[in-house]
Amino acid sequence: MTDSIDHWELREKIIELCLWMNSSGLNQGTSGNISARYKKSMLITPSGIPYEQLKPTDICKMSLKHNRLEWSGPHKPSSEWHFHRAILQSNAEYGAVVHTHSTYATALSMAGTRIPACHYMIAAFGGHTVRCSKYATFGTPELSKNILKAMRNRSACLMSNHGMVVAGSDLDKAMWGAVELETLSKQYYLASSLNSIDILSKDEIRRVVAKFQNYGPKSKAQTTNIVGAQQVDSVQNNAQSASTSQPSATKKSPNIKLPVSKR
Ligand SMILES: [Zn+2]
Repeated sequence: MTDSIDHWELREKIIELCLWMNSSGLNQGTSGNISARYKKSMLITPSGIPYEQLKPTDICKMSLKHNRLEWSGPHKPSSEWHFHRAILQSNAEYGAVVHTHSTYATALSMAGTRIPACHYMIAAFGGHTVRCSKYATFGTPELSKNILKAMRNRSACLMSNHGMVVAGSDLDKAMWGAVELETLSKQYYLASSLNSIDILSKDEIRRVVAKFQNYGPKSKAQTTNIVGAQQVDSVQNNAQSASTSQPSATKKSPNIKLPVSKR
């Protein structure tokens, strides 16, 4: 396949987001990885190379048409190539996948807990929960299987004793989702120290999911700014004002203690 300009732009965008992911604190070292769909292939970060040293030619290219470990490029793909490819293969609408060991999402994953509908932003991931996939050793087909199960009708999941993974229609939306999921994880973690949390009803989350059809980053300019909590807050506040007339919490979740595992 002849490389096009789009191909190289995607490689550059992957590196740009890797660098941003670490500078923002969303990820540490080379523990996270990013992939993007390019025609019938997947572009993915290589294994173990510091992001600062990455060049567009270092990004690995793998076919989406089979499950063999074959790639083009000078380095071996990320050890998590298996679940990146499985997620892209599972849904033709996904154009990118972001995986990080972000602090709060990873902390929740250590408790094996799913995130309930403690905030309406959970609807950004397609439903009233973000599940936590069952543990399996990194880089294994079993981990991919567990993740796909946890992501059924969802665009993200926590990964037990590991981190989180988010899919999106493109790189911007996948990274936006990763930021939102880490924020939601932090909020849920902090709120869990209170005596009770109001959990939104499934009906309310269905309404918000419908409103979210045209929500999220729309352009390259917006993505560059996902970093800014200010913009995220602003978007959230606008959405919140628009939804103030909706029914709110309907069910109490008393005395939530994170160590209680609810996958
Ligand atoms: Zn990982």
